[in-house]
Amino acid sequence: MEADKLTYDQLLAENERLRIKLEEAGDTIDAIRNGEVDAIVVKNDGGHQLYTLKTADQTYRVFIEKMNEGAVTLNREGIILYCNTRFAAMVNEPLEKVIGLKFDIFVPEVSCDKFNEVIKDGWENDCKGELLLSSRDFNVTPCLISCTTLDLDEGTALSLILTDLTIQKQAEWELKVKNDQLEEAQDAAERLNNQLEDTVRERTADLLVSREHFKLLANNIPQITWTNLPNGEFDFCNRRWFDYTGHLYGKAAAGGWQQIVHPDDLQKTMDTYHASLKSGDVYELENRFRRWDNTYRWHLNRAVPLRDDSGEIIFWVGTATDIEEQKKQLDLKDEFIGVASHELKTPLTSLKGYLQLISAYKKEELPAVVKQYVEKAAGSLNKLQRLVNDLLDVSKIHAGRLEYMMTEVNLGNLVASSVENAAHIYPDFEIINTTTEEAYIYGNAGRLEQVMMNLINNSVKYTADDKRIIVHAGVIGDLVRVSVTDFGIGLSPGQIDRIFERFYRAEDKKFTAGGLGMGLYISAEIIANHQGKIGVESEPGKGAMFYFDIPLVKR
Ligand code: ADP
Repeated sequence: MEADKLTYDQLLAENERLRIKLEEAGDTIDAIRNGEVDAIVVKNDGGHQLYTLKTADQTYRVFIEKMNEGAVTLNREGIILYCNTRFAAMVNEPLEKVIGLKFDIFVPEVSCDKFNEVIKDGWENDCKGELLLSSRDFNVTPCLISCTTLDLDEGTALSLILTDLTIQKQAEWELKVKNDQLEEAQDAAERLNNQLEDTVRERTADLLVSREHFKLLANNIPQITWTNLPNGEFDFCNRRWFDYTGHLYGKAAAGGWQQIVHPDDLQKTMDTYHASLKSGDVYELENRFRRWDNTYRWHLNRAVPLRDDSGEIIFWVGTATDIEEQKKQLDLKDEFIGVASHELKTPLTSLKGYLQLISAYKKEELPAVVKQYVEKAAGSLNKLQRLVNDLLDVSKIHAGRLEYMMTEVNLGNLVASSVENAAHIYPDFEIINTTTEEAYIYGNAGRLEQVMMNLINNSVKYTADDKRIIVHAGVIGDLVRVSVTDFGIGLSPGQIDRIFERFYRAEDKKFTAGGLGMGLYISAEIIANHQGKIGVESEPGKGAMFYFDIPLVKR
């Protein structure tokens, strides 16, 4: 039929006929695909011909159509004779357009060689291979391609089953990433482990050196030294301990050490030792240890705790220093002080007597200048006598012989007379007594006055611009507190800790006042003998408040 000779109506009719034919053809294809027909009759120039779809067993056709894999058959030229919907979806083409195309247009260049190789092998044997499939809009899908030949009536075809490996590849990729990360982490862990091993090795070596160092040091110092655990158990004693005690070297460290403490010192030693273990405070005390030859020697014991970062005690390190010789020297010195002050006392007393005789002798006939000299000499003699008395007291305290009578004392009266006395001696100072209460105590009036005078003397000695001194006695519960407050140079906390020690004098470069550091030591001893307590509250430059507390007598 020639188109140009057709009328418009004929053209319309022809068009309608072709449309119906196309529809029929589409239905036929669907029917074949769904397995609804097994054979078709095709009319051509040679008359009617029957095509039976021998390979198209319905079950398999449905199965292939529903498969998750792409299925394709190729002829020798690589033209797609058949494919399922899944394959069309993989290459993103409408199904009807794929049949008749050459398969290799869906193979990207990188996979061409592999594809040719697999296809070539596939025509000979069943084979498999991995390659990429690409749609015409360059969407790439990794696939496993399995080839097998099919003998059809029309000749042999090559069947390809294509499994989409996208998820598998992604999983493999993720696995690889994870594996790489794992390997990296393992490497890092190994490196760390190696570093750690090195550090441990170094530390162990350091530790060995420092342990040997410690042992060498500990065994070569003249002191006894030990370490003990937080519970008090001994775990090390140096060689000196064994040499001193005569115990076998290396045998049970310091076990039963209490047995060599002098019986008179044992109670105090154990009390101090247990108190330190409990509180964690430094252990310090003097006691006597028995030597291998059964003689006792004085030792100064000191132990300090070693703590970890959290403050927990790991162990204690202690030393005992032999102070027998120092003690002997001190005793000798005290003995000398005692004898010397005693010897000085007699000529001093007679000097004082003679001075009194001179000043009383024909009083009115004495020239004024001589009177003046006598007064000055009497003043110096008084000072000298106080000094000698203090020295005598110190040696008595040391020998444990500071004894005196105790009676009931009206402390109010005692304070008043001390203040009066001091006001007479120090006319430049304003000494104020603010006592209003009556208070009786049990004690020695002379010794308590000595303490009062010592405190007032110090307030005068360590004065600044403000010349007031306030003295007060007041009842606090079942105690009476006597205080002497001044506005002088004051004391630092470090000085406060030591001022009651024998011969201690706080150093102040800007301030020089005479003294031997005995007054507060003697005062503290006297107050202790009265079952009392002496103390001070002070700050540098802000004056000082010295006080003592003594138990009241119930009346
Ligand atoms: P001293 O003979 O040195 O005065 P003390 O035993 O009486 O001996 O006093 C000991 C030390 O305490 C003194 O050297 C001084 O440094 C300090 N001290 C005592 N009283 C006072 C005070 N009121 N103000 C400041 N410092 C004082």
